[in-house]
Amino acid sequence: MTLHLAKICKGCWQQLYLPVPLRGVASVPFRAFGIRPSRMNPNICTICELMFSTVMRARKITLDATVLFADLRGYTSLSQTQSPDAMSGLLDAFYDECASAIWEHDGLLNKTIGDAIMVIFNFPIRQDDHTLQAVLAARAIQDRWRVRRETLPGLTGGDLGIGIGIHCGELSFGEFGRSHRDLTAIGTVVNTASRAQSVAAAGEILLTQAVYDRVSSELVGSRPQEYSLKGFETPIQLYAA
Ligand SMILES: [Zn+2]
Repeated sequence: MTLHLAKICKGCWQQLYLPVPLRGVASVPFRAFGIRPSRMNPNICTICELMFSTVMRARKITLDATVLFADLRGYTSLSQTQSPDAMSGLLDAFYDECASAIWEHDGLLNKTIGDAIMVIFNFPIRQDDHTLQAVLAARAIQDRWRVRRETLPGLTGGDLGIGIGIHCGELSFGEFGRSHRDLTAIGTVVNTASRAQSVAAAGEILLTQAVYDRVSSELVGSRPQEYSLKGFETPIQLYAA
């Protein structure tokens, strides 16, 4: 599967009606000014990425968005028997498949945290159905990984599955820690998505009630299960997608 890449920046086109070329001959003069495809999403430009960072620094911005966490299960234990080269190859394959699935659904690969990733939907590319897009991206990640891991050396059937958690709601952005200036979304929505991911089994996608309510037509037959999440006093209901 190859990734379909846009010729012009989706963010600039959507918000400013400006066709900013990202690839091909037309993009050459833009590249001279440092305007190129973003590493968080190659269908937006570095100006849009900068806007994302600026908005996050503003601290007061809140936005309805969907947050997805995905984590490669069993990576740490496998690293005890595999060479560092093999392990970094596995991680690259994981990032590749996640990124392709996410970008096809216009998400922003905001952070890679060891063997996990954090993704935001609805910024800077706006999507009325960002929660649905996140669920579809999660399914695409699982599908892609099932195919890809068969091609990876050193794995035996079933090794290294991906656990995914998704939550949605009002996000706030902020600068996290004064010394290392780590820009990211913060708050309950992010924490809850991360916790949901932490209880997802390998190959599983777990959604919160808020996500379920928005995409229930896609989830016929999915019944809630109770989970006790670290940091939450009462158990919460999660749905498998
Ligand atoms: Zn742009």
